Amino acid sequence: MRTSLIAGNWKMHGSRDANSRLIGGLLDGYDVRGGCDILVCPPFPYLAEVARLLNGSGILMGAQNCSTEESGAYTGEVAASMLGETGCKYVIVGHSERREIFGETDSTVARKFVAVQQAQLEPILCVGETLAQRDADETRLVIERQVNAVLDVAGVAAFARAVIAYEPVWAIGTGKTASPEQAQAVHALIRGMIAAKDDKIAGSIRLLYGGSVKAANAAQLLAMPDIDGGLIGGASLQAEEFLRICAAAKA
Ligand code: PEP
Repeated sequence: MRTSLIAGNWKMHGSRDANSRLIGGLLDGYDVRGGCDILVCPPFPYLAEVARLLNGSGILMGAQNCSTEESGAYTGEVAASMLGETGCKYVIVGHSERREIFGETDSTVARKFVAVQQAQLEPILCVGETLAQRDADETRLVIERQVNAVLDVAGVAAFARAVIAYEPVWAIGTGKTASPEQAQAVHALIRGMIAAKDDKIAGSIRLLYGGSVKAANAAQLLAMPDIDGGLIGGASLQAEEFLRICAAAKA
């Protein structure tokens, strides 16, 4: 059975005070025997300090983005290997905000995915359709395009060390959540795509759902057979709410 992963994407939120309160709250309420893996993804400048605060707790740390490049004259960029040195185990790639606001293409996302793995870290590949695409019945097409862009470059074997997060763009930060059935249908599609190339990897890969998950709707979503955890934005900024989501996850 796959161990669930609940990942908190703090986005561009936080301060030294707020972070230490948030991590303090997580450490107070976190039960390592709960069984699911818990991950926090703070903004870059706070990674080293958050790593120090988390030290030995069992709560993992990831980053929200990284460069396609390993090193060099790329002012303002951060290499995946640098994230590894701060204590990150995971890096989110292809979040819809990166795709939509910062113009990241499928090919950029695929290169980031590869860069993360080259640094011995695990990518969390985000995919998802916009409302217009869903309304135009293009959800399958979009998901297939986004997943295939990475499969074509990295190969299916790379997915033995990766997580995929389905995040319908219309559900992120909007308060609108996909129904458990809508989310399950896309998760089954993604698992099927992987299974068509490698059954074993399809059985072990963790597929997260993201989009306005909160304690009140987490249990129903996380009970679906192909939903192995969540990528949580807003609700990950409140320790109690985030821990209640974690408690709803399958071990
Ligand atoms: C996210 O940031 O990936 C996300 C899903 O945000 P929210 O939970 O706030 O919708």
